[in-house]
Amino acid sequence: MADPIVEMKDVNKYFGSHHVLKDINLEVVPGEKIVVIGASGSGKSTLIRCVNGLEPFQGGRIVVDGHPLEPGNTSKTSRSLQAIRREVGMVFQQFNLFPHRTVLKNIMLAPMRVRKVGRNQAEETARRLLDRVGIGNQADKFPTQLSGGQQQRVAIARALAMDPRVMLFDEPTSALDPEMIGEVLDVMRELAAEGMTMMVVTHEMGFAREVADRVIYIHEGQIVEQGPPAEVFDNPQSERTKAFLSRVL
Ligand code: ADP
Ligand code: MG
Repeated sequence: MADPIVEMKDVNKYFGSHHVLKDINLEVVPGEKIVVIGASGSGKSTLIRCVNGLEPFQGGRIVVDGHPLEPGNTSKTSRSLQAIRREVGMVFQQFNLFPHRTVLKNIMLAPMRVRKVGRNQAEETARRLLDRVGIGNQADKFPTQLSGGQQQRVAIARALAMDPRVMLFDEPTSALDPEMIGEVLDVMRELAAEGMTMMVVTHEMGFAREVADRVIYIHEGQIVEQGPPAEVFDNPQSERTKAFLSRVL
């Protein structure tokens, strides 16, 4: 197997006295698609937020593309953290677009500021990415003028503009009206087919079954079960996994 691009080793995370991630060990190889499932409050968001240093953690070690994160170096000034932020794209449930910038500017900003890409080149890339997510004609609009599904596709284009090596998605379709879920999942399917390394938290079990190389079920901050979707969904080993799946499938 290839060397992992994301490695979590004995990661422990507390919010105050609340132990939310317990000895998480997880390796993701380049091109692998991981889907994380579990009940609300089980630690899914916290787990993927740790991967790009959005959450400090108290024990263990995370290495992304050779850049280590440890409990002591998750401050903003850490070089390792800055490198990881450049290489890891993140898409949130609530889009998080800049409301006072056009769609085009939303996509151009980070490459210009962080990667020091020139304006013309940033614009060219932004337009190409908007075409790729199917909304090339919305470049000059402001986020609120778009539907939720279109805003989420902008958010994906914005993350891709940094040319990430890993993409994290935290329930990217949970805030969308049902008729818009498909258009966002389609973009994610294409990205998967192109070989992107992806870690996706989602309740879309159809997507998980189709796209995931590996499904990870977490319960109260622990990885209880993992495996190919056909195994986890059709032949779960743990009683907890069975109980969870019987509620969501
Ligand atoms: P999930 O994404 O699976 O719903 P989270 O990772 O958001 O779960 O949360 C895991 C646990 O950590 C929950 O009990 C949640 O209430 C708690 N938690 C999450 N974020 C914070 C925070 N910023 N401060 C305190 N507790 C938090
Ligand atoms: Mg969450």
